[in-house]
Amino acid sequence: MRENSARWLAPGDPESIAAALTTRFAHVYERDAAGVWFAPGRANLNGEHIDFHGGRCLPVALRHGTYVAAAARTDGMLRLRTLDPDLDTGVVEIPDAANSPMPESAPSWTGYVSGVLWSLAQVGEELPDLALEPGYGADVLIRSTLPIGGGLSSSASLECAAVLAFAGTGTPLGAENPDEELNEALTDALRATLARACIRAEVEVVGAGTGGLDQNASLRAAKDKLVSLDCRDFSVTRTDLTFLLRDYQFLAIDTGQPHELTDGQFSSRRAEAEAAVAVLDVDRLRDALPARPRKTDVELLLERFDQAVEAGADFGGLEPGACRRRLKHALGEMLRSEKIHALITAEAHGVSHTAQVLGDILSAGHTSMKEQAEVSFRLADQVVDAAVQFGALGARLIGGGFGGSVLTLVPRSRINDVVGVCTRLSPDIRFLEVTPSAAARAV
Ligand code: ADP
Repeated sequence: MRENSARWLAPGDPESIAAALTTRFAHVYERDAAGVWFAPGRANLNGEHIDFHGGRCLPVALRHGTYVAAAARTDGMLRLRTLDPDLDTGVVEIPDAANSPMPESAPSWTGYVSGVLWSLAQVGEELPDLALEPGYGADVLIRSTLPIGGGLSSSASLECAAVLAFAGTGTPLGAENPDEELNEALTDALRATLARACIRAEVEVVGAGTGGLDQNASLRAAKDKLVSLDCRDFSVTRTDLTFLLRDYQFLAIDTGQPHELTDGQFSSRRAEAEAAVAVLDVDRLRDALPARPRKTDVELLLERFDQAVEAGADFGGLEPGACRRRLKHALGEMLRSEKIHALITAEAHGVSHTAQVLGDILSAGHTSMKEQAEVSFRLADQVVDAAVQFGALGARLIGGGFGGSVLTLVPRSRINDVVGVCTRLSPDIRFLEVTPSAAARAV
């Protein structure tokens, strides 16, 4: 039984959502959609702010995500509209998106879609299967079932749904594999290529600092599986979680506090982390740790950092103490990620042991987000404390921080207690069941 006043965000039924979106598409564009593509958001058990250091991230795909209905055009024009009530300003037109994805007049959210079209056009130069037809353009209608700016990766899920829509309607791969056949044709290697295209769009067109976790999670997840993503080479291990999810549940708690003025803060966190890495004189932080890192390896690196500070290392005007905290966060996340990876892939432990260790790691991750990364905020801290006090085995802030969602692991018997206490913390709080789900696909 669910707590009565609690607000749950339902993922909805994909077929019904796709059918409604198709009908709406016909009204908006006065033509039929060629199909609907879906890409999930994600919850990350561990590994925030370390994808760009080559660390390991541990996401699961949600049932919530972004749906894109689309039909190809032959005049190079991209017309797009979102049904999100806060962002919808009607149909936006980008005349030559494959070459000029970001005209000044276009609202900033459109860059996530036009940027993907632009970067897919570059991929096709090397991979004929994914070559967009000359003059390709599209009509696009978007609907999301995720909180936007909620730390569950609505932006990457929009990019990934869009890239599938474009691949499905404008490339030889889509022409040879219509509708749901596309799902079979999309090998992991192709999905990894599409993820790279989305990353490029976000970095080069939108101008955000993604390290690739979100796009790889959305395009390469699997039902019932935890994705262990090694960001050194973006290789993926998928591990079954059903044994755990019989008695325990992951629950995402959207605080309702969207990222605020975060862009600057997020980039300053990354700049500080990168300054610390430069002082250590390594190209990529993950490479400074052994394959199976231990606490002492982390301590040694922090000592090396301290010695560099004493020797007068140059931080380019950044505060060395802040750089050290970002470094400590990143190294701690790497250690925790490897611990989860080893725990989950070993299959040697009982369910309750695994659950408790995962819970402890979640909570340790939150402490680090708060004290070392310094990206947490009051309501997230309150949610974490309340959830743990009322039965969760652990809880942490996920996503970039400064707003967004908390992920908790809760025995199923205690869900109502956790939901009840968190509901009382803020009227804006919403709950999402985190059921590890399939990757992006044609619906
Ligand atoms: P999140 O944690 O949800 O990914 P971000 O701030 O990274 O938060 O991305 C949110 C941004 O992504 C929005 O401000 C908007 O630009 C874009 N976006 C996400 N979903 C949609 C959507 N359904 N329609 C239009 N834009 C969207």
